[in-house]
Amino acid sequence: MDLITVREVRTPTTRAELRFGPGELPLGGGTWLYSEPQPGLTGLVDLTTLGWAPLEVVGDVLSIAATCTLAELTRLPAEPGWAAHPLVRQCAESLLASFKIWNTATVGGNVATSLPAGAMTSLLSTLDAVAVVWTPDGGERREPVVELVTGVRENTLRHGEVLRSLEVPLGSLRSRTGFRRVALSPLGRSGTLVTSRTAPDGEWVLTVTAGTTRPEQLRFDEVPGERALADALARVDTWYDDPHGAPDWRRHVSALFAHELRAEALSPAPTPPARPFVHRPGPARSAGTPTRGGTA
Ligand SMILES: Cc1cc2nc3c(=O)[nH]c(=O)nc-3n(C[C@H](O)[C@H](O)[C@H](O)COP(=O)(O)OP(=O)(O)OC[C@H]3O[C@@H](n4cnc5c(N)ncnc54)[C@H](O)[C@@H]3O)c2cc1C
Repeated sequence: MDLITVREVRTPTTRAELRFGPGELPLGGGTWLYSEPQPGLTGLVDLTTLGWAPLEVVGDVLSIAATCTLAELTRLPAEPGWAAHPLVRQCAESLLASFKIWNTATVGGNVATSLPAGAMTSLLSTLDAVAVVWTPDGGERREPVVELVTGVRENTLRHGEVLRSLEVPLGSLRSRTGFRRVALSPLGRSGTLVTSRTAPDGEWVLTVTAGTTRPEQLRFDEVPGERALADALARVDTWYDDPHGAPDWRRHVSALFAHELRAEALSPAPTPPARPFVHRPGPARSAGTPTRGGTA
């Protein structure tokens, strides 16, 4: 859609050039911004020209640039011990989108849009990610993603603040995770998305998104009993009501999923598949010879 009130799209290459006048907003992939009228919008500041590396391991965190696209995120290589790795694709595929959106929408744009069905919010909340926010005075602040998103299209970002990156503790990636999602139609927006994460120290974290107006997280020192889980779920009161599901249905299926995930967490962890043996062609073979996969 043409945004007919936009007069200027700026393309900064340094932080010093990153500033926002009244009526100006950050531009990530533009998949939400260009999908509906934006009354009062006079300018866009394109974050993708800042050239941030999409994915970097820095110390004990995986740093995901806000401008990392969904497609780039799904290409995150699985390191040994990253039991949570499958959750990345499970969440990315929960965002119902064409290949155009998949290749353009950014992780930061998804969190900043703050829709209940924000699949990157689901992923990052589950993994205890911390948002690094650049403030207009040249400083930065940090806030857990689970707290940054506060409601439907609501978050703690103020005008002029920019999500710079999302930091995932490597310990979270070493956790065992579980995933359940339902939508009213096969290609529909998520009605509810429930994840679980068993941390290496035994802590059990249940996260509900899409079914609630903001991420809801229940934390237990260990996998809880049925009763303790039911009691904690009964205290959740933010069930979302929109054409993608009624609140009572969302509450019911979320609880069903939560109990399934609890049982799953109590069962022995599946053995990771053996590393596939890949035959590497020797120098005598032509460069075009395909390699064959097999089991060792
Ligand atoms: C067909 C279709 C299906 C969709 N399905 C879903 C879905 O299932 N779930 C869902 O959540 N969304 C969905 N969307 C909405 C949207 O595509 C996604 O939320 C997407 O991830 C937004 O990312 P973006 O980079 O394109 O954001 P943009 O459109 O660039 O920006 C969105 C908002 O975030 C702000 N913003 C962007 N980057 C930053 C940043 N780094 N710091 C601060 N603010 C920033 C912008 O100013 C704007 O307000 C869908 C859209 C379409 C068209």
